[in-house]
Amino acid sequence: MALYEEQNLRLYNSLSGQKEVFTPIHTGHVGMYVCGPTVYSKVHLGNCRTFISFDMIYRYLLHLGYKVRYVRNITDAGHLEDDAEQGEDKISKRARLEKIEPMEVVQRYTTDFHNILRKFNLLPPSIEPTATGHIVEQIEIIKAILSKGYAYEKNGSVYFDVQKFDSDFEYGKLSGRKLEDMIANTRELTAQDEKENPQDFALWKKAEPKHIMRWPSPWGEGFPGWHLECTVMSTKYLGETFDIHGGGMDLKFPHHECEIAQAEARFGHSPVHYWLHANMLTLNGKKMSKSTGNNLLPEEIFEGSNPILSKAYSASVARFFMMQAHYTSILDLSDEALLAAEKGYHRLMEALEVLESLEVSDKSDMDVKAWKQRCYDAMNDDFNTPILIAQLFEAVKWIHLVREGRKTLSAADKNILQTSMNQFVFEVLGIEKPLDAAASDGKVEGLMQLLIQMRDKARADKDYQTSDQIRDTLSELGIQLKDGKEGTSYQL
Ligand SMILES: [Zn+2]
Repeated sequence: MALYEEQNLRLYNSLSGQKEVFTPIHTGHVGMYVCGPTVYSKVHLGNCRTFISFDMIYRYLLHLGYKVRYVRNITDAGHLEDDAEQGEDKISKRARLEKIEPMEVVQRYTTDFHNILRKFNLLPPSIEPTATGHIVEQIEIIKAILSKGYAYEKNGSVYFDVQKFDSDFEYGKLSGRKLEDMIANTRELTAQDEKENPQDFALWKKAEPKHIMRWPSPWGEGFPGWHLECTVMSTKYLGETFDIHGGGMDLKFPHHECEIAQAEARFGHSPVHYWLHANMLTLNGKKMSKSTGNNLLPEEIFEGSNPILSKAYSASVARFFMMQAHYTSILDLSDEALLAAEKGYHRLMEALEVLESLEVSDKSDMDVKAWKQRCYDAMNDDFNTPILIAQLFEAVKWIHLVREGRKTLSAADKNILQTSMNQFVFEVLGIEKPLDAAASDGKVEGLMQLLIQMRDKARADKDYQTSDQIRDTLSELGIQLKDGKEGTSYQL
């Protein structure tokens, strides 16, 4: 019997505003789509939290025995600077400013995105489609929506007709907005506007002569709208109706609302059964923002190179910190919070080591099976990782009591405890062992001493290029060299 048949997973569906029992369309299989990044700049720590949240969800579904097709796209065209669909394409703009090809921008920041996610130990999705790889499909779906009368063409652009759609379906059901209210609260259209109504959104935009990224279409040269690409890529790989669609809370409106409208206009029915939204990360109690400087990049955490941090933290500590909050809650990051998470992380890792060599008795003082089910109950309750972590620390307490001889544990229970702890910590939460645990056999120490000696020699020879290269490369790996009176030491 598969684990998912024994465990009763419930998840909070943003569409109904309720926790619902999870029943996939095809027994044993799950189709999940998550909106990926727009690759025009370095990935933001807040975005990382969203992707880490869905990685945890993906991992738990896999743990339950589901066969999951997880699709997470790369937006490499069509995302304009503001939601009102004004301004330049974000990638084209970066390409123009840096005087490089748009696809160089895409390549650079896609690589950065993958590197950072690998550090946070994310599993790669099953399919990672790009918007530019699906232009043909996007044109086809626009043609279909036009033929059904839910879109109109204007000067080489195609817009989705929200009022027409709302008269047959319901626009705003995900975000709980009513079209009448939206109309009442928006400005009048000016003569230059091509849209018939302010709520309408672009399916296809005509490319101005300056616009670099452009493709031929029945309506002239242009590029697809951002909302459209997700509808196309999700339904292409997961079907007209699929199980889970996820993304950051900020995408609920208008992006996901528009996705629903496009799919309903095209297929005549709702595309997604369960909409999941991950909440944001704040920094010292305030929203992160590049413009105010209240911002933190993932590598600044790994290096400790931001003034708000007292030290560097490993990616595993940062991930553990994020797992201590429920994915739908706002999480505030601060140096104190990371310090506390680091302590907790080491306590957990230490207990796992103690557990390995724990002496067993004939019987147990603790009900390990009931504890294990409480761990599942936490995860079955809309992936409640903070409750799961509280249960893991219950186990940590027991482990120390057994070690001190104040409680007993049978061999069979020790086995269950060990297997479950390892599964929940490493498989489900995706936490990794500390680097120094992997290094405890002394090899890293030996290598580090060799590098320090080579750097000392280079400095003595005034070969600063080599000595700097050694220091900088180690720093990129998260290893800091510290020069002192007693010689050079290092910190992982
Ligand atoms: Zn999307």
